[in-house]
Amino acid sequence: MSYSQFSCAANFLRGRKCIFCGSFKVNRTARGYAKCRKCQRQKSLAQLRREIEILKGFYQQVPAYRLATDLNLDVKSVTRVYQKLRTLLYHTAELEGTVLSGQIEMDEAYFGGRRKGKRGRGAAGKSIVFGLLERDGRVYTKVVPDVSAEQLMQHIKAKTRKGSVYFTDSFRGYQSLKRYGKHHTVNHSKSMVDKKTKNHINGIEGFWSYAKHILYNYRGVSKYHFPMYLKEIEFRFNHRKDNPFKLFLNLFFGYDSP
Ligand SMILES: [Zn+2]
Repeated sequence: MSYSQFSCAANFLRGRKCIFCGSFKVNRTARGYAKCRKCQRQKSLAQLRREIEILKGFYQQVPAYRLATDLNLDVKSVTRVYQKLRTLLYHTAELEGTVLSGQIEMDEAYFGGRRKGKRGRGAAGKSIVFGLLERDGRVYTKVVPDVSAEQLMQHIKAKTRKGSVYFTDSFRGYQSLKRYGKHHTVNHSKSMVDKKTKNHINGIEGFWSYAKHILYNYRGVSKYHFPMYLKEIEFRFNHRKDNPFKLFLNLFFGYDSP
């Protein structure tokens, strides 16, 4: 991991910059606290260093138990930081509330469970995710109870601009889409790109691989916790061109960069 990714934490770690408000008007107390003259808040530098180390681990997707061993910490201290950040990411991703437009690829995917397969018997015990991806833009994901046309259309109407250009596979759940925008279907039972029309949904397919790769790293995410992990992945994907570590710091400590 490059130095530059984490260099945004340097002034916080040295007690020169306030982790809460970003001010440089910081005093270091005899007890090892960084105390801000602007927002009046203070923080133990030892604790701050520990939390930032844990946030680096989160950024690098190190499982909590392994990071605890690496840093010689109680696994609970690591889990507390991970869960707090994951909750913040969940709410931030939901509140960002972007409405997608232009060319939008949509697909469903099935996560977890033991059996392979989708839309049929193999889906038992799995989490069903509906994904919408704006080409060259953002992705939005939603854990859904089923893939009925009603369910899919409800999220399409909430999250995309009417009149967009939609790309899906030929699943019948998308049949009424043509009344809402321009609808292209991709017959990709044999190849990823429809040979006749050259239509594809490679963007959302790429996102599914990205998500599965990250989840594989975390191993054994329960169905209960899955929606949180999914939003974390969505956030990472949508901010892949920013520095996610910096965003994690800002979110976790409430620091707002001017
Ligand atoms: Zn401050």
